[in-house]
Amino acid sequence: MAELIVLKLGGSVITHKDRPMTPDMDNIRRLAEEVAEAGTRGLMIVHGGGSFGHTVASQYGIAEGLTSGDQTIGFSKTHQAMVELNGLVVNALLRASVPAVAVAPSSFVVTERGRIGAFSFEVVRRLVELEMVPVLYGDAVLDGVNGFSILSGDQLAAFLSVGLKASRLVFGVDVDGVYTSNPKLNPDASLIETLPLGRLGEMVDVGRALTTDVTGGMLGKVMEAAAAVEAGVEVIFVNALRPGAIFKALKGEHVTGTVLMR
Ligand code: ADP
Repeated sequence: MAELIVLKLGGSVITHKDRPMTPDMDNIRRLAEEVAEAGTRGLMIVHGGGSFGHTVASQYGIAEGLTSGDQTIGFSKTHQAMVELNGLVVNALLRASVPAVAVAPSSFVVTERGRIGAFSFEVVRRLVELEMVPVLYGDAVLDGVNGFSILSGDQLAAFLSVGLKASRLVFGVDVDGVYTSNPKLNPDASLIETLPLGRLGEMVDVGRALTTDVTGGMLGKVMEAAAAVEAGVEVIFVNALRPGAIFKALKGEHVTGTVLMR
């Protein structure tokens, strides 16, 4: 397969995280246009859930697995919330003339204790080969051990980058990159422009996000991304709220952010 870039768009970027089921249509439209303008030949997009998936998933304890029959409606609702958000993202891409194709993770991914197990790359690989843009997302999925689980967009994006030998994995988040501590809590936090994986252990402060997110947070992203870095994928975190940042990251131009190093 020709060169591939995997773009992960954070739920904090495409939704209003503090308002249940509220998309940020301005950001969704702008990002769709940036993707169109960049014109990347081999591209795959994975987006997060923000206030769509997470609200209902935590209400029914989906991430903790199947413990009671009442949760099955919660599984359905979580997945459906993500289908709706995905529809908004895919439609915005189509309006920008990007040949986006929705691919539902729950229809072909089964996790084992929350980690991706059996996985068929065939459909997404073929879509990219035909220069279409598969658009996947964090989703409620079936789990071989726990009944079901939440597959994060972060895990999925890193897994796809490794399995399809992507050249670059771009995380679009709502801050400029990885900081010495949570920049939303600590005004003294400073941006780490290059982060060698070996230094992760020292970075005790790369803490959890100040959000209701059941899967995310910056530390989680960096841990997922580490596997991609080890596999030789260039991983970069950029601020998708800044107009032009995702365009530049897709084009391989210099952009403020954090590059992960081996
Ligand atoms: P998304 O849902 O968009 O994928 P999250 O909200 O889960 O992203 O994670 C991003 C958030 O992580 C940032 O908004 C920030 O508040 C938080 N965070 C925690 N620690 C750090 C850190 N060391 N550097 C940067 N962001 C951090």
